[in-house]
Amino acid sequence: MIDFELSPEQRKLQLDARAFAAKHLTDLRAKMVGKDAAGRFEVTKDAYEAAVKAGYLKLQVPPPLGGTMNSLVDVAIVAEELIAVESSLPLSVLSTGLGIMGLLFFGNPDQYEKFLPQFVNGEGAPLAGLSFSEPHGTANYHNTDPSKGFATSAVLEGDEWVINGRKIWTPHAAGWGGQHADLLAVAARVGMDKPPQESLSMFLVPGKTPGITIEENIETVGQPGAEVCVVRYENVRVPKENLLGNVGDGILIAETAFTATAGLVGAMAVGVARKAFSIALEFARTETRGGSVPIIQHQNVATILSDMKAKIEAGRYLTWKACWNFDRSMGRSQELSLINKVFTSELMIGVITDAMRVVGVEAYKEKTGLMELLQDAMAYPLFDGGNVGVRRLQLQRVLSAPEYDLMAAAEGIF
Ligand SMILES: Cc1cc2nc3c(=O)[nH]c(=O)nc-3n(C[C@H](O)[C@H](O)[C@H](O)COP(=O)(O)OP(=O)(O)OC[C@H]3O[C@@H](n4cnc5c(N)ncnc54)[C@H](O)[C@@H]3O)c2cc1C
Repeated sequence: MIDFELSPEQRKLQLDARAFAAKHLTDLRAKMVGKDAAGRFEVTKDAYEAAVKAGYLKLQVPPPLGGTMNSLVDVAIVAEELIAVESSLPLSVLSTGLGIMGLLFFGNPDQYEKFLPQFVNGEGAPLAGLSFSEPHGTANYHNTDPSKGFATSAVLEGDEWVINGRKIWTPHAAGWGGQHADLLAVAARVGMDKPPQESLSMFLVPGKTPGITIEENIETVGQPGAEVCVVRYENVRVPKENLLGNVGDGILIAETAFTATAGLVGAMAVGVARKAFSIALEFARTETRGGSVPIIQHQNVATILSDMKAKIEAGRYLTWKACWNFDRSMGRSQELSLINKVFTSELMIGVITDAMRVVGVEAYKEKTGLMELLQDAMAYPLFDGGNVGVRRLQLQRVLSAPEYDLMAAAEGIF
């Protein structure tokens, strides 16, 4: 049976998220103007706290672990609604979700008890982040030559792991008021003479652990209220129980988390494109540009608009199917998530530039808002595993596997 009807619970989530966005996110961007990266992040704190209270962190945690996540589709629905109004705050909420994702999938009961409650109690503004990417390059994290690839190391000394290295693009490492994140999931190699397939591992590191220094709050071109940092780990000590899974599980843990987010990036891209479409549609229905009729009456304009809408609808349904597939396969089936990440993120960039073609030169004015949306949307093909350096390589591995079944994604066979 194919059923695209939202359940009553999902429809409520959607409408509640729409109302939340209207109340908390509409004016957020304006408050960021003139501030530096840390200042802009700070502007989002009240909205982040409200999002936690509204249950949007819990929504990323399955019920047996204290959350409310029945399906990744639910998260996609909420993400689209929030991002269709403002994209930085939802990115922060999802980045915290990514930061705890390894814990959710690979944690043990002791680790759940120690680290999870703060993220599911619906209070405050807890921050987590996945500290995976490295300054000299991330795409080759699976390079089998031990002398290349990731350089962050973890060495067991007595009962403690000692972590040394540098990371880039770590969300929330500086945290609210520079007080650091509550929890970081840090990828590091145990045994620098071994390939990452054996050595790359994931560690749960409380963000305030001594030895963590923030080198930079990166000034990005879009998502101005989301925080990403360059972080130095210098003799950072955590108990040996803070290893997630086993030594050498790092690639599996990261790729499982990135398979979930590959579904969600589609929803993010659709959210931004939807906003661009609404700006272009409104313009086309109301502006004559000196002619006799609103420009939507010109067939070429209407054609661009209808093509844009078709792409948005297609992107949304592919996103939902990818998320549904993730649920059903427990993240084991990667193909549809990867296709969605690449295809939808790139398709939606085209939707935004199409919106500019509809609006014409007015699109070049800052206040029209389309340039801002393009800058936000440009993150989606580039981050969460760049489409060229990471995601298409993952797809190459899927397609070239001897057991590859070309109908499996369509037929839901895992
Ligand atoms: C807003 C934002 C949020 C982010 N959040 C996080 C986060 O939560 N956690 C985190 O760890 N990181 C995060 N990142 C970083 C980001 O997800 C990854 O670092 C990034 O996707 C990897 O970059 P890349 O694919 O361009 O790899 P790079 O290693 O920088 O590669 C650059 C380019 O080189 C080429 N290339 C390199 N190697 C190959 C190869 N083997 N085959 C083919 N081409 C190759 C490709 O053209 C690739 O695009 C974030 C980034 C941004 C902007």
